[in-house]
Amino acid sequence: VDHYLEKIEANKHLNAFVEVYTEEAKKAALAVDAKIANGTAGKLAGMVIGLKDVLSLTGHGLQAGSQILQNYTAPYTATAVQRLLDEDAIIIGRQNCDEFAMGSSNENSSFGPVLNAINNAKVPGGSSGGSAVAVQAGLCHASLGSDTGGSVRQPAAFCGVIGVKPSYGRISRYGLIAYASSFDCIGPITKSVADAALLLEVMSGADDFDSTVSERPVPAYTAGLEWKGKAKIGYIRSAVENEAIAPEIRRQTSEVLDRLRAEGHEVTAIDMPLLDSLLPTYYILTTAEASSNLSRFDGVRYGYRSPESVDLESMYKKTRTEGFGDEVRRRILLGTFVLSANYYDAYYTKAQRVRRLVREETNRFFEQFDFLISPVTPTTAFTLGEKTEDPLQMYLADIFTVQANVVGNPAVSIPNGLDDQGMPIGIQIMAPYFGEEKMLAFANYLT
Ligand code: GLN
Repeated sequence: VDHYLEKIEANKHLNAFVEVYTEEAKKAALAVDAKIANGTAGKLAGMVIGLKDVLSLTGHGLQAGSQILQNYTAPYTATAVQRLLDEDAIIIGRQNCDEFAMGSSNENSSFGPVLNAINNAKVPGGSSGGSAVAVQAGLCHASLGSDTGGSVRQPAAFCGVIGVKPSYGRISRYGLIAYASSFDCIGPITKSVADAALLLEVMSGADDFDSTVSERPVPAYTAGLEWKGKAKIGYIRSAVENEAIAPEIRRQTSEVLDRLRAEGHEVTAIDMPLLDSLLPTYYILTTAEASSNLSRFDGVRYGYRSPESVDLESMYKKTRTEGFGDEVRRRILLGTFVLSANYYDAYYTKAQRVRRLVREETNRFFEQFDFLISPVTPTTAFTLGEKTEDPLQMYLADIFTVQANVVGNPAVSIPNGLDDQGMPIGIQIMAPYFGEEKMLAFANYLT
């Protein structure tokens, strides 16, 4: 704990942490020491973990990177976090992120941007940027992020670390601030696949507080990390051929596919006719869900209330105008629009139908293949400010990551070399629904 506290202090400029629980972490470390001494320590004894600022920890500040939650304190602890604590993990602080987890660069936080530790002029990715940089820069052993459309995997790729998005319904969302409830997943960011497997194993499984969590038993992911046999791998042809993808990313992805072929795995190019529909579907459905989820921030129940309010309506308007940042307001407007009576069928219903088609197409794919391999992102970490004026450019960063959330399947991002400027490149492995065990074994084999 002392080591990490020193590193956090020395790397304050990265802006990875919003709050550090110094005294509490020190106390927790002593308590864990005592448990280790008397042989009662849990599976995560002494593992120092940071939490994205969307995960509840009783009595601690929680803001989702937003000013609308100023001075808000979590009244209970998220199930996933409680399970870590029950195994004697030590929580060291809460980490900076894009406001309400909306973003791909961590430039939408009301606490200011997070800097990539490899090159401070570059973004760390988002929305779990603080969580990825904290692991990248060694400010904690592991982090928990949330992934609605790539927010664990994309920053992990930009920072050269590992990020796992589990199957929808694997880990309880109780205590996670909702962005788009039918997409949101909690996921670990780590330096090794083994650590990710361990955290997943501890956090997964049924929970009385979240009825969308599966009752399926949780495999011992850490015991199954050795990959055996040959895999059937599909990859999206355009991901290694399309000129819009950075040449170094195409090169590194092709190298992995060649290596797999050479090692006797079956590697096949496929076409994904619905690829172009993924981002529109994702952004219609997530903004719709977000506009509904974020309606609770009304100036009455949580955090901030505008001091300028004179009546109920002005309180709503002023509180939400002052409390939310630009990107969050843009999405609330978009989501409200696609749900409005005149446009509901044209956008929302249609996107739901496309979601079903994507699910069917993905299921058909996994009848034939074990894994879908792709780049994580079309570019490596870009320069701060480069895309802030153009939200559509920013949304394109999610082209390869959103599919897993649209369908609910698990996917992992692992490091796959560097570009010419020394920035990390990631590769993504997507597996069938609840195929985490094999996916992690294969990721372990590839790292
Ligand atoms: N970048 C995507 C978005 O802004 C993903 C966010 C996420 O996974 N939380 O919606």
